[in-house]
Amino acid sequence: MQDFQFLDILSGIPAQLPPSKSEKQSKRSRYAELNSHCAHFVTRTAILLGGVLALNITSSIAVNALRFATDLKLKRVALPCGVCRGKGFYICKLCKGNANIHWSPLYDPVAFNPCLCPTCDGNRVQRCLNCLGKGYS
Ligand SMILES: [Zn+2]
Ligand SMILES: [Zn+2]
Repeated sequence: MQDFQFLDILSGIPAQLPPSKSEKQSKRSRYAELNSHCAHFVTRTAILLGGVLALNITSSIAVNALRFATDLKLKRVALPCGVCRGKGFYICKLCKGNANIHWSPLYDPVAFNPCLCPTCDGNRVQRCLNCLGKGYS
C-alpha cells in the first residue's frame, strides 16, 4: 500500500509537474511577450505621434516665417495703396463716418430709421477693398 502510494507519487508528480510548470512559464513568457509587444507598439505610436506633431509645429512655424518674410518683402517692394494711402482702411463709404445710415424698407418712405451701418458695424471705417487691408497693392 505504501509502496503503491510512493510509486503513484513518483510516477504522478514528476509526470504532471514539469508540463504544468512549463505551461505556466510559457504562459508567463507569452504574456511578457505580449506586454513587450504592447509596450513596443505604444512607444512606436508615441514616437510617430511626436514626430508628426513636431513636423506639424515646424512646418507651421516655417510657413509663418515664410509668409512673414514675403509680407515684409512685398511691403518693401510694393507701393502703398493709393485708395487708403497705405493705411489698409478708409472712412466707411456707406455711412460716410456717421456709423449709422438712414434706411427704410419702403420705396417712398415717410420716415427714415437710423440703422447701424452694416458695412462698418458702427466702426466708421471699412477695410480697403483695393488692398484688402494690407496697405499696399
Ligand atoms: Zn459705415
Ligand atoms: Zn488700400
